[in-house]
Amino acid sequence: MLKQIIFAASLLITLGVFAWTMWKIFSYMKFTKPYPIKNYAKRFGIMMEVAIGQTKIFRKPVIGLLHALVFWGFLVILIGSIEMVIDGLFGTERILAVMGPVYDVLFASGDIFAFIIAISILVFLFRRIFMHVKRFYGVEMKKISKADANLALTIIFVLMITLLGMNTFYVLHAEQSGHEVLGVYPVSEYFAAFFSHLPDHSIFVWHEINWWAHILLIFLFANILPYSKHFHVFTSVPNVFLSRLQPYGYLDNMPAITKEVKLMMEPDAAFASPAEGEEETVERFGVLDANDATWKNYLDALACTECGRCTSVCPANITGKLLSPRKIMMDLRARMKEKGPGLVKEGVEYSDNKSLIRDYISEEELWACTTCNACVQECPVNINQPAMIVDMRRYLVMEESAAPGELNSIFTNIENNGAPWQFSPEDRMKWAEDVNLEIPLMANKLAEEKIPEYLFWVGSAGAFDDRYKKVSREFVKILNHLGVDYAVLGTEETDSGDVARRAGNEMLFQMQAMMNIEIMNGYEVKKIITCDPHDYNTFKNEYPDFGGNYEVIHHSQFLAQMLKEGKLNLNDTFNGQKITFHDPCYLGRANGEYKAPRDVISALPATNVEMARCKSFALCCGAGGGQMFKEAEKGNKEVFLERIEDAIDTKADIVATACPFCMVMMTDGIKYKNKEEEMKNFDLAELISQSMKL
Ligand code: SF4
Ligand code: SF4
Repeated sequence: MLKQIIFAASLLITLGVFAWTMWKIFSYMKFTKPYPIKNYAKRFGIMMEVAIGQTKIFRKPVIGLLHALVFWGFLVILIGSIEMVIDGLFGTERILAVMGPVYDVLFASGDIFAFIIAISILVFLFRRIFMHVKRFYGVEMKKISKADANLALTIIFVLMITLLGMNTFYVLHAEQSGHEVLGVYPVSEYFAAFFSHLPDHSIFVWHEINWWAHILLIFLFANILPYSKHFHVFTSVPNVFLSRLQPYGYLDNMPAITKEVKLMMEPDAAFASPAEGEEETVERFGVLDANDATWKNYLDALACTECGRCTSVCPANITGKLLSPRKIMMDLRARMKEKGPGLVKEGVEYSDNKSLIRDYISEEELWACTTCNACVQECPVNINQPAMIVDMRRYLVMEESAAPGELNSIFTNIENNGAPWQFSPEDRMKWAEDVNLEIPLMANKLAEEKIPEYLFWVGSAGAFDDRYKKVSREFVKILNHLGVDYAVLGTEETDSGDVARRAGNEMLFQMQAMMNIEIMNGYEVKKIITCDPHDYNTFKNEYPDFGGNYEVIHHSQFLAQMLKEGKLNLNDTFNGQKITFHDPCYLGRANGEYKAPRDVISALPATNVEMARCKSFALCCGAGGGQMFKEAEKGNKEVFLERIEDAIDTKADIVATACPFCMVMMTDGIKYKNKEEEMKNFDLAELISQSMKL
């Protein structure tokens, strides 16, 4: 009875302290912004795949397997812990044994898992303490973070040892006192042989010591966790369940901006009632401080395991810039911990004259992001770091006009000229001038009362960038050769707004989007082909939020389809050449298209060689997220150089690209490395048009 009383008191204290901590966290969350949740069935599927199946962890197969075993082991061992609580409260012994054979299987698995976890923890500790694993280091990884990780791992190790100890002495005690052993314990039965010489009384005492040590350590651990990075033990599964469902390339809409843009474009809308999800009053555009973020952002920060998988693949971080996506999450958590008590005490008006931007995260960090989504791809708990970064850029741009000067220039250019460069919108068809091709215009088609099957969206780079103008011409040659029913918008085309959005100028993006949608819908456009993966992404994933619903096709997909259908016959122009393909982030990671470009290359009489970092592991070229138009932040290397080295390592003759920005970066990289003799850069459209049998 005394044991039960002590146990009940310990449990009560544990639950009380835990509830108090949770209340504190929830009370901070109350000050954050909303995050709508729908589509529970899909969420459940993602949770089963990513959280329970641990699929993302396996991107690093060896260490991933150990982590996955630890996680799965915990799930099984949890059943044993529940049994201990029931036994502790009611004075029963191995109460769940009534489950019979199921119990045997579960507890045998738990016993084996305890051993595997103990070994895995030793490996993790060894890696952390004795091996210089780069991702465990960084400015954000203070001594306390490392100590925290090591403490938690040590506690888990002791938990497993006490669990095995408890099972070992239970088996011995049952055998020596002539009782039936409830459950099966393959590992502990093996260890039991080493202690069989002990008298029964000692065995009983050792069992009790291990039992109490194990359960009290669980109680203690449960209350340490919320204050450590290992809080993810509780938060990671719900965080994955609540993760964003859209493709990585999608950025959340800002309904308040939509309202303002609509007001500018159609003043009558001023009197319309707010749409669902639209806010009547907006305190601030974007995120300045922790409480400007959504509660899901805060949950992300609490779920961050500090594993550094994101930072280890971040092109900005790899090349020595200050940005670390892990730090963004850790800073958000730390800032909320600092500001939360004040908010709870004094309400939303509370200020300590500090903010997340500048006091924790510098502008330099924020402007270094290429929005390549490599971090999102790696994060085992499905955190979307660039969305948070863009939200902070939105604050800087729309509240403070504090974008880097070059970005302010491109905003002005887009606003005035409909392109990031200083070209007249009237010159938008000049790319097609010195080529003897008939390029139909949508306006002419309309005059003939025809609706072409496809709109070929040339894009700002396709219309104005000297190198990419050539790609536009080559692609049109293919379209004409195939007799495709298409047209272009000509001078009616204006920038898609993709760069403006990723650089934080949501207002400009939405203005561009709404203008384009009005024009495209006016022409009853149904299908868009584009050579630009950034425009492809924004049309496909973001324009639907504003009433632009189209079937969007990237030219690599179109070419792959034409080749598959046997509509393009190729000659041996590239016979015997080695080609390596650089995956554009906005085609690959953002939209999961890795196959089409490779299908195009394999149709050529050439050899496709992969870079060490390819497909979803591909390194960004360094141009996304507005980087194309500004000086890179201080670091030890340019991203495009890091990437071109991957290409050079393959010893390929050609680095193939399928994006205007990637083309600029790869071409620059080849020049910088003096490899112009050995390596050429072609877009897929050029490879096909140059090999096409006419
Ligand atoms: S999106 Fe790319 S550049 Fe930005 S933080 Fe993530 S990995 Fe780094
Ligand atoms: S954000 Fe994700 S990948 Fe990055 S450290 Fe945290 S858990 Fe790991």
